Amino acid sequence: MTATTEQREGLVEVHGVHKSYGTLEVLSGVDLVVRPGEVTVVIGPSGSGKSTLLRVINHLEKVDRGFVAIDGDLIGYARKGDTLRELKEKDILRQRTRIGFVFQSFNLFPHLTALENVVEAPVSAQGRPRSEVEPEARALLERVGLGDKADARPRQLSGGQQQRVAIARALATRPKVLLFDEPTSALDPELVGEVLDVIKDLARGGTTMIVVTHEIGFARELADTVVFIDAGRIVEQGPPAQVLDHPAHERTKAFLDKVL
Ligand code: ADP
Ligand code: MG
Repeated sequence: MTATTEQREGLVEVHGVHKSYGTLEVLSGVDLVVRPGEVTVVIGPSGSGKSTLLRVINHLEKVDRGFVAIDGDLIGYARKGDTLRELKEKDILRQRTRIGFVFQSFNLFPHLTALENVVEAPVSAQGRPRSEVEPEARALLERVGLGDKADARPRQLSGGQQQRVAIARALATRPKVLLFDEPTSALDPELVGEVLDVIKDLARGGTTMIVVTHEIGFARELADTVVFIDAGRIVEQGPPAQVLDHPAHERTKAFLDKVL
């Protein structure tokens, strides 16, 4: 690895992030650094704040305190000289295209074909010409093994196929980082493998990603860093062999005993 500033500082930086819903504090001072090309797997009990963390990184939720930066740019703000200006909704949409988000429930546009789902964001949010985007979208569908399903609508596809379209869609804006929120949790067991294989392929190809998952095998095989979060705090983080096999905290041990 060459030592660029980016690699030292992290492509994704979360600093001192607090987030509450009413009186419920869901994130209580979260710090996280993800370097380019790294795979970070986030594990933790239901309700611990995993989805909120991803939503804050993607600016689907505003932080109460702290900040998130992607590739040195503060999420939700534009820098003009020394002053920061809060972004307007339109600019937020453009900023968000630097981050690909894959949801548990696929969230494809039901009335659009697989191809149109992939084409949509680069054209409408990034303003790129359709003539340029469409061949790329077809190549992305090939990459997730769905080259022959370009004209299918979501309801004609299995859950595993829909999630693979969702991954192609997330890649279409050429994001710097991909966020996955329990991408296989809504799938029938026999469909989990085909989706994990696509994610593994991307990880091996150097895509920077943060993956919330209960698939401990995936974490063991591909994570550079495993982060255990509980009650809105990162309890411990480190290489899989450390966090999964030699956890330092009782709460991590108790959680792993339940899911393994
Ligand atoms: P996880 O993904 O780890 O299961 P979440 O981040 O979804 O946890 O939720 C953390 C906590 O925040 C939960 O108690 C949840 O009920 C609460 N929560 C999440 N989103 C909202 C919201 N939009 N309004 C109010 N409470 C919320
Ligand atoms: Mg969640």
